[in-house]
Amino acid sequence: MGMAIYPGSFDPVTKGHLDIIERTSKIFDQLIVAVLENPRKQAVFTIEERVEMLKRVTSGLENVTVEYFRGLLIEYAKQKKVNIIVKGLRAISDFEFEFQMALVNRKLNPQIETLFMVTNSKYSYLSSSIVKEVASFGGDIKELVPPEVYDMIMARYS
Ligand code: ADP
Repeated sequence: MGMAIYPGSFDPVTKGHLDIIERTSKIFDQLIVAVLENPRKQAVFTIEERVEMLKRVTSGLENVTVEYFRGLLIEYAKQKKVNIIVKGLRAISDFEFEFQMALVNRKLNPQIETLFMVTNSKYSYLSSSIVKEVASFGGDIKELVPPEVYDMIMARYS
């Protein structure tokens, strides 16, 4: 079923993100994971580092590519000629913001549809911010991030 874009800041990628990527890649022929700058969040990892981490964790998934884009998601989707955006939903708390974004994006471009994937309950507590918080206090993030990126994240905090 065609192509989709899974956008996010991925600062850094977590097991929750990877779960959404794996499940989404089974539904679509082609999935583009797009790293976007989030003006509301000060990033710890550069865009290049975030792309590198995502490439490492998705290297076994043939139909997944990783790219970055500095700008409006809707412009990127248009440029790539992809009209499906996939977002992950963790909890009711994600809903209000994601709902607003989906409606704004539809206003900007009615061709583009947003689909929501419900989190795996195993990872519903997980976010990039939690990973950064635990790592910054010297906690173990082994259970929270894919093994391929563990060292790269820890190195930032040692
Ligand atoms: P975060 O909120 O962790 O900083 P991003 O801004 O990178 O994450 O989010 C990218 C997308 O991944 C969003 O659609 C977000 O809702 C989703 N997502 C993040 N963590 C999870 C998770 N644990 N389970 C399901 N979806 C998630």
